[in-house]
This record gives sequence, structure tokens and C-alpha cells, in this order.
Amino acid sequence: MTRIRRSSIEMDQEEFRKIGYQLIDDISNFTNSIRQRPVTPNESPGELQNILGNSSLPENGSPANELIAKATDLLFNHSLLNGHPKFLGYITSSAAPMGAIADLLAASVNPNVGAHILSPMATEIEKQTVKWLAEFIGVSTNYGGILVSGGNMANFTAFLAARTAKAPDSFKEDGILSSSKRLTVYCSKTTHAWIEKAVILCGLGTKSIRWIKTTPSNQMDDTILEATIEEDIKNGCKPIIVIGTAGDVSTGVVDNLKNLSVISKKYDLWFHVDGAYGIPAAVNPEYKSLFDGIKDADSIALDPHKWLYSPLEAGCTLVKNPQHLLNTYSSHPEYYNFNKNQDEISQNYYEYGLQNSRGFRALKVWLTLQQVGRSGYVKLIGEDIELSKLLFQLAKKHQELDAVTQNLSITTFRYIPANCKKDLEKKESYLNKLNEEIVNKLQIGGEVFLSNAIVNDKYCLRACIVNFRTSINDIKEIIEIVVRVGRKVHLELKDKKD
Ligand SMILES: *Cc1c(COP(=O)(O)O)cnc(C)c1O
Repeated sequence: MTRIRRSSIEMDQEEFRKIGYQLIDDISNFTNSIRQRPVTPNESPGELQNILGNSSLPENGSPANELIAKATDLLFNHSLLNGHPKFLGYITSSAAPMGAIADLLAASVNPNVGAHILSPMATEIEKQTVKWLAEFIGVSTNYGGILVSGGNMANFTAFLAARTAKAPDSFKEDGILSSSKRLTVYCSKTTHAWIEKAVILCGLGTKSIRWIKTTPSNQMDDTILEATIEEDIKNGCKPIIVIGTAGDVSTGVVDNLKNLSVISKKYDLWFHVDGAYGIPAAVNPEYKSLFDGIKDADSIALDPHKWLYSPLEAGCTLVKNPQHLLNTYSSHPEYYNFNKNQDEISQNYYEYGLQNSRGFRALKVWLTLQQVGRSGYVKLIGEDIELSKLLFQLAKKHQELDAVTQNLSITTFRYIPANCKKDLEKKESYLNKLNEEIVNKLQIGGEVFLSNAIVNDKYCLRACIVNFRTSINDIKEIIEIVVRVGRKVHLELKDKKD
């Protein structure tokens, strides 16, 4: 080693600037041309491996500029583009460009947001972000919380806090043996699959879940909920948590949170709201009342990487009394020299959740909230909902389409071949098969990306608009694409049958 260390991993200032400027130029051209690109290139794993090559771990290093040029080519030309205006699948938003810049800045300073002393300003920015998110959805800013990787983690983080709060006091020490009674949790049949992972993770087991039936409007049936709780208590179980959904993944329906909160209070249960997808719509005065009861939630999960358009990953857990997070997650190992010699108490995020070392995911959320502002989000979210309603209306009007549901920004609909509208019942199994095949075709076609939903046993096409790039024209074109592909798939299936 020379006296001044020269590390192969370091970039000198000139090299960093050159690569950085080039990359920013390339990204800006990519984003600008995204509309002209296919939503997905539809390449098989084998084809992708050929493009990538199968060389073994490099023995020696390569020039950074060549590597970045190769990586941008691979990613720009061989990715599914959820930033495309016609990507309406699952619940993945177009990413705010501000988020990309924020992530570059966050990684460059690289604060470890596990402890205040390691991330002084970043910790304060995360605290402010959490407070703003509470304000955004209209609950008290006394809620505390933490940013996590996404909706699943946000729900797990709250779930474990709920279990600690409501299970016998010795649960943390004795584990599952501390309770002679089965601990039970309540959610509707539409609840996202996270709940199964949560009960497995927390040692309750999947038999602790009470899947409550839904009403015809797809909300949790609160009469059945209350009867089930009563029944469980009679049978010696210990109910602990009620989970309401604020925007279910399939159709966007919001449970009657007010009623669920009243029942939770009556039986002294923790009331958790999974708002991973839908709760940001509470910012819009037109839709706020859908979420009445949210202020009584003991905990709330939401996903900035869905309807706040943050790039992956960003989820958030909010807890009415943040002390519950500390009760669950705090520990003071001897190797941490935090919180000494300070008059003010500083917040160490490792005590608020499962992670220890933590990245600065708050920055992209914090910056985008300011770039857009509350009124900007009211408009963006309102427009997404309007586009979803337009899709529903156009499907309803079309001879060969059947509009099925429309809630928040999710529309479900089906393709029904011309002169097939009579005797629908007889044809249900064919229509299910036909629409499944249409989804498959659309997902590889590259023109539009939709996903599916099963609504009352009907296999539907599903569009979820959390996309600030989608326009009225896109919606009209999507109708045309679906009908064109629908006709083609119908002919193919019919020919096979004949
Ligand atoms: C998306 C979603 C989840 C899971 O969130 P991830 O960010 O994918 O982990 C959980 N619940 C609901 C209601 C969701 O919409």
C-alpha cells in the first residue's frame, strides 16, 4: 500500500461526475420515451439468461462506466415497465422521478437510520415523514411509527405489537405456552395473504384466523364478526385482534371501519386497519367519509410505494400509542452506546420495528410529499379514481364487455363475445376460461398490463390505476385492445372446441 491509499472501489471526482451525468441523461431519455416502449418485452427466463450471459464471478475488476452502460441497457430494454401509462396491474404505481433522485442522495450520504446518533438529520426527517403521513390520512399526529419495506412488513410490524399488547403479559418470555387459551384474530375473507404469514411468524398458527364472511357489497359482515367473537369466547379462546381492510386488493372495497372499531372496543380487542393500498384516498374530501372510523384504529398499515407513487420500497406502520412499538421491539444491548449524555431523548428507530441497520427510505417519501403537496395529491388520487370510473363506464356501454365492480381506483370487467349475452349462466365456465386466457395474452402482449380478480366466481380482468401517467386516451385505447384481443382469443378457443 502506498502512503495514500488508492482503493479500486473508490471513484475519483472526475469519473464519478462523468458517469453520473451520463446516467442522468440516459434515465431522462428512458423516462421520456417510456410511452413508446412495450409495457413488457415478454422474454423467457432462458432468453434473458442468454442476454445476460453465464460467466462466473469476475476475478478482476472492470471499468465503472462500461458496467453502468451495460446495466442501463439490460434494464431499460428487458424490464417490465410499471412506469408505463398502460401498466395497471396488481398495485404497483408509476414511480415519482423525485424518488430516483432522492434514493441517489440517500445512498450517497448513507445514514444508518437505526439510531439517532448514526443518522441525526435522517432520523428527524423520518419522524417528520411519519407525522405527515398521519396528517395525510387524517388521523392524529400523535400516532407514531416507522417506515418499512412495504405493506406486508407494515402489517407484520403492527401485528406483533398488537399481539404483545393483547396476549398474556408473559408472552414475550414464555412464548405460545404462556396462554392456555387459543389466541384468535378476525379478518374478512378479502384480507391480503400477509395475515397468514403474520400468524405463522408470531407463533399463533393459521388456525387462529377467523375468516369472516363478507356482505354482498364485499365488506366484512359485522354481525357475523360479533357472533364469531362471542362464540370463540364461549369456547375458551382469547380474541385479540380485529383487522379491517381499507381498500381490498381485488376490488378496492373498504370495510365499515366505524362498526369494526365499535366492536373492537366492546370486546377490548386491538383494531388494526390494513390500508396498504386504499388509505391515501382519505386525503381527498370526496372520499374521506369512506374511511370513517380510521381515527379509532390502534394501528394502520399504508404503502407509500402504492398510491403515494414512491419507488419501491416504502411501507409505513402507524400506531396510536407508539409505546406499544417500544414494548415490543426495544432492547438495550451492551454494545450500543446510544442515548448517553443527552438532555433530550432521541428516537432510535431500531427500537420501533424489526430492522436494526436501516436505510433512509423516508427521504423519497418526504421529498415527494413536499414536491406535490396535499392539494397535488388530492388531484392525482382523484384523477386516478375518475379514470377508473371512466373505464367502468366504457366497459358498461360496450356490447362485448361486462362491467363488474368499481371501487376506489380498481375496476373489474369481463370480455363477453357478441351474441353471447343471453343464457350467461350456461356459459359461465367458458367465460371464465376465455377471460383467463385474455389476461394471459394481454400480460405478454406488451400493449397493456392488467391483472385478474375473481368476483362472485366470475374470472375478471382487473385494472388498478395508481398511475399518474395514465390518461383518458390510454383508457379508451385499453378498451379497444381488450376487445380486439378478446375477439381473437374467443375465435381460437372456439376453433379448438369445434
Ligand atoms: C399490497 C397490499 C399488501 C402487501 O403490500 P406489499 O407492499 O406488497 O408488501 C397488503 N395489504 C393490502 C391491502 C395490499 O393492497
